[in-house]
Amino acid sequence: MSKKRVLSGMQTTGKLHLGNLLGALNNWVSMQEEYECYYFAADWHALSSNYEETGNLKENLVDMGVNWLSAGVDPEKSVLFIQSLIHEHAVLHLLFSMITPIPWLERVPSYKEKMEQVANKDLHTYGFLGYPVLQAADIVLYKADFVPVGIDQLPHLELTREIVRRFHDIYKAQVFVEPQPKMSEVPKLPGVDGRKMSKSYNNAIYLSDTKDEMFKKIKNIITDPARVRKTDPGDPEKCVAYSFHKVFTPTDDNLQIVSDCKTAAIGCVACKKKLAENIFARINPLLEKRAYWNERKPEVIDILMAGTEKARTQAKETLARAESAMKINAGNLMPQVK
Ligand code: SF4
Repeated sequence: MSKKRVLSGMQTTGKLHLGNLLGALNNWVSMQEEYECYYFAADWHALSSNYEETGNLKENLVDMGVNWLSAGVDPEKSVLFIQSLIHEHAVLHLLFSMITPIPWLERVPSYKEKMEQVANKDLHTYGFLGYPVLQAADIVLYKADFVPVGIDQLPHLELTREIVRRFHDIYKAQVFVEPQPKMSEVPKLPGVDGRKMSKSYNNAIYLSDTKDEMFKKIKNIITDPARVRKTDPGDPEKCVAYSFHKVFTPTDDNLQIVSDCKTAAIGCVACKKKLAENIFARINPLLEKRAYWNERKPEVIDILMAGTEKARTQAKETLARAESAMKINAGNLMPQVK
């Protein structure tokens, strides 16, 4: 029996952070055995909120490839590709944008949330509003059966499904696969300030940070605000550092931290030092592989290019079927030119 297909992408808005590693990358690695996986660098998506900062796009893209390979994403098992090199994404996005009602986009929770929270960028753009339409095109071009999503991205996937149904309904043809969510049970890691870890919020610990930079950021993670002095008892549930401990520290040690924090037997500095040790113990193998792939960037680029060629074949086939259903494949009317 052929494997079901999974599609997932990552924006090339900046360097990957610990949240990306836990939330997506580790999941990508584990899905490779069971599914046929298509993973892509979403460099056009990066423009939706970072259209003014394109200088590092290429560097970020290669760094992303380095991270994928370092984390264990295997190009022998998965198709790794670059969105902007496959123009079928843009064409299908345009076709979908013709049939997508604007209120469907305005009600997407992450759209409203980012509009409210991101103060340093003007996101009142057509591209930012239409971001989920491009996402829909990304997914259905590859006939993905599943898309790994966290609970907060479910509305995006539902929108994709609605667009697919609307397309099928209008053009009376079953062209696309309606993707299903693959809920991932990944631990949620906040940023060092307690908000969602995000490049946009400037609160992330990056995989490309040096250990000194990481350590500095760990030292600055927000703790229980009521714990002003070392002698004050703390409440771990009100502490962002403890949220990190829950992810990186073994359960028995965590029980001890809870008790020591509540009785003021441990200070926050020592507590975060332990946290740093546990984080490094977890990510050291990846950091070592990063050093290896960082020395071999041309090879990383070759891997991404080879995957892009493979993905393009599938994207072309799906787009041709969509254009045919819409009866807009005007190319067929043109005389054959050699
Ligand atoms: S001791 Fe640890 S868990 Fe308690 S407030 Fe300080 S950093 Fe947080």
